Parts: sequence; C-alpha cells; structure tokens
Amino acid sequence: MSFKSSRRLRVSAEKLRTDLECEVIDGPAPFDIDNPTSRAVGRIVVQGVDDQCVYCGEGIRFRPGRGNNNVRILANLYDGDGKWQGVESYYPPKCYDEAGAPYGPVYTMPASQLVADNKQAVQVAEM
Ligand SMILES: [Zn+2]
Repeated sequence: MSFKSSRRLRVSAEKLRTDLECEVIDGPAPFDIDNPTSRAVGRIVVQGVDDQCVYCGEGIRFRPGRGNNNVRILANLYDGDGKWQGVESYYPPKCYDEAGAPYGPVYTMPASQLVADNKQAVQVAEM
C-alpha cells in the first residue's frame, strides 16, 4: 500500500459502532477556535505512528494490511480556559469504552475533510 492511498483511508463510523458502546458520530467534532473543549475522534493508525494506549499500555503501530480496521481513539484535551493540555490515545478502540468514554462521543471525520468535501460540492455545483 502506498503512503498516498493510506492517507485516503477513512474511519467507518458504521464499523466503529460495532466495536464501541459509546456514541459514534459520523461527522467532524464540533470544535473550533471559539469552542476549545476536549473531544475524542477515531483515526486510522498510519505509517510512522509510534504511540501507546493510555488505558492498557498497548503499543500503537501501523499494521500492514489492516487498513480501515486499524483504528485508535485520539482525545485532544483542553482545560477550562481552553488551553491545550495534550493528546491521549486509546487502542484498541474498546479501551475508550472501558475507560468510561471520558470525553463523550467519538467523531469519525476530520474537520479538514468536511472543508474539502464542501469545496468539491461547490465546484460541482458551479460546473
Ligand atoms: Zn488499550
């Protein structure tokens, strides 16, 4: 698999729902510079990732051939003043459930993807 094609992999909300009991939302997190709150997202583990699950300690690495099935839950943490506190990874995804889904629902879509989709939609509409 080339790096280019791996970047195109998307987390399937439908499949993630079968792994998780907490809410999985097929969309981008409602987050922007005016609303900096902690949130959790589902992300494919891509080449170059070398991380560890904060819940069970399992190493998080790219696994060739697993494609869209190699998903981790990534939480961006902010304090009450909106100051970024760091990132926590949960892997496999069920670790996020077992930790009590501390940051609420899991969103599957990156915000930039929505922007790209909208741009494309605008281009199609203008053609
Ligand atoms: Zn874990």
